[in-house]
Amino acid sequence: MLKELLAPAFALTLSPGCGGGGSSSSAELASTMPLPVATTQVTRWQGDAPAAVSMTFDDADESHWVLGARMLRDRGLLGSFYLPTDWVTDWQPWRDLASEGHEIGSHTVTHPLLTGLPLEQVEQELLESKNILEAEIGQEVLTFAYPFSAENDAIRAVASNHYVASRAGPLLDTVNPSAPPDWHGLHAIVPISSWNLARMQVELDRVMAEKGWLIVQIHGIGNSTAWQPVPASVYRGFLDDALTKDVWITRMIDVISYVVERDSVRLTTRLEDPNTLRVQIRIDELPKHPVPLTLQTVLPEGWTDATISGATTEGPSKVFVTNNERRIQYDVGAQDRTVRIRRK
Ligand SMILES: [Zn+2]
Repeated sequence: MLKELLAPAFALTLSPGCGGGGSSSSAELASTMPLPVATTQVTRWQGDAPAAVSMTFDDADESHWVLGARMLRDRGLLGSFYLPTDWVTDWQPWRDLASEGHEIGSHTVTHPLLTGLPLEQVEQELLESKNILEAEIGQEVLTFAYPFSAENDAIRAVASNHYVASRAGPLLDTVNPSAPPDWHGLHAIVPISSWNLARMQVELDRVMAEKGWLIVQIHGIGNSTAWQPVPASVYRGFLDDALTKDVWITRMIDVISYVVERDSVRLTTRLEDPNTLRVQIRIDELPKHPVPLTLQTVLPEGWTDATISGATTEGPSKVFVTNNERRIQYDVGAQDRTVRIRRK
């Protein structure tokens, strides 16, 4: 679902004399009057990707940085690592991952079954692990994963006091919709040692069909002694398959931030002069960890190419045709700003 905000005004009122005949080309109209053109939409996922995937790693296993992070790094990707702080014997590998840009999240202090604890103790596990991680890693910890995927409404409420979002387990549906209904009950799949690449591809096909967000929860890779390690070839094959399909593979926090920005952005597009569109971007809810938003602006008829002016955008832009409309796609940093698109 693309979010669309039509620019106000510019309702083109044609006099009866020129209605429907099509004798005036749109290019001529564009040079003489404002067109009812120009809508700008934010794409469901960054880069207009067909789906989002987050690779998450639980329990501070050595294979996460030996194999998991390395295969992500080789592909220019970032993952999310959930550490029970009492289980970490050496912080250095995790500090290194964080400094490379990977996300470090909390998985409590002692990895208890939270549903079996009094709420004060739940609170303590969630808060203390966050404090320890932030002191050891030197970065703000924004997301959480429930040990054993065990949670309930009361525990979700505690998590919401300390974290932006929390990952649960394989609930009724393995795919999160593009607007998750509860940030503290995010669904995840849990691949186990017997899963082959075909089994993983079933999940990839599903998330692409639903245009949603798949969170993959991994405990170990290859010869790891962790619970149910996934074969390295399956892990690698899944990454490559998802990349081939242009899926957006990124940290939990990036997807969360994108959704918050995407669903609170207000876009106004006007023709400033016959050869310039002005897009105003207002983001009502700015997350703690902002990420670039991907926008598409429909070009007025007659424009074959366009450029984004100024240093307001991030990354390259591209012009393409879809549904008989010519659009320009570009990324903008998450802050209120004005972008100008000039006819080329
Ligand atoms: Zn765990």
